[in-house]
Amino acid sequence: MPTISKEDYLKSIYTLNSIAEKTVTTSTLASKLEISNAAISEMSKKLSDLGLISYEKYKGVELTKEGEIIALKILRRHRLWELFMIKALQLNWDEVHDEAEKLEHHTSDFLIDKIDEYLGFPKFDPHGAPIPSKSGVLPKMPKLISLNDCKVGRKYQVLRVVDSPSDLVGYFSRIGLNINSEIEIIEKLSFDNSVIILLNNVNHSLSEKVVDKIFVKEEEVI
Ligand SMILES: [Zn+2]
Repeated sequence: MPTISKEDYLKSIYTLNSIAEKTVTTSTLASKLEISNAAISEMSKKLSDLGLISYEKYKGVELTKEGEIIALKILRRHRLWELFMIKALQLNWDEVHDEAEKLEHHTSDFLIDKIDEYLGFPKFDPHGAPIPSKSGVLPKMPKLISLNDCKVGRKYQVLRVVDSPSDLVGYFSRIGLNINSEIEIIEKLSFDNSVIILLNNVNHSLSEKVVDKIFVKEEEVI
C-alpha cells in the first residue's frame, strides 16, 4: 500500500473541492489517491490535529485557511513547472504532469518566484488551470461547464482539461483538442453517455470518462 504525503493530500482535497464545490468525502479521497480508507482516516486525524483540515468522521474533510495556503502553494509550483517545461524546454503537453508531480514537493519559493517572473507571471497553466500568485490569489476564471452538461447543436470553447493521466492528454493532442479549441456538440448518446463532437471539421466520439475531463465555455451567439 503506497503512502501519501501531507502535501498531496491537501492538494487533492483542494482540487476535488474546487471541481465538485462540496465537502470531500474520505472515500472519494481514498479512490483518487489510491490508498485505503484506513490510511485516509489516519492522515485526516493527523492533519486535523495540525489545524490544516477540519474532519468529522462520516462527514468529510475541508481545508482550513492554513491548509488552503499550503495547497495553493503546491498547485502554484505544479502549474508553473508544467508551463516552464513546455515553454522553456519544449516538452509536450502530455509529458509535463508526471514531472511536475515530483518537482512540486522540492522547489523553494525563491526558485518558483524566479520561474514565475521568467514566464511573465502567467495566469493559467498549459491545461487551463489557474495559477495562484505569489500571495496565493487565483486569477478570475469564466464560469466553466463540464462537457457533460453541454447541449446538442451548440458551440463551445475548451478552456480546461484535466491534466492526468498523461495518455489521455496525449489523446487530446492527437485529435487536435487544445485549450481554446472550438467544438460543436453533434450528438449525446444516452445509452453510454458518450458525446460526439465536431472539432476541426472532424467528428470524434468521446467516452463518458473523457467527457468528464473537459471543461468549456459557451460561445457567444452574435
Ligand atoms: Zn499536472
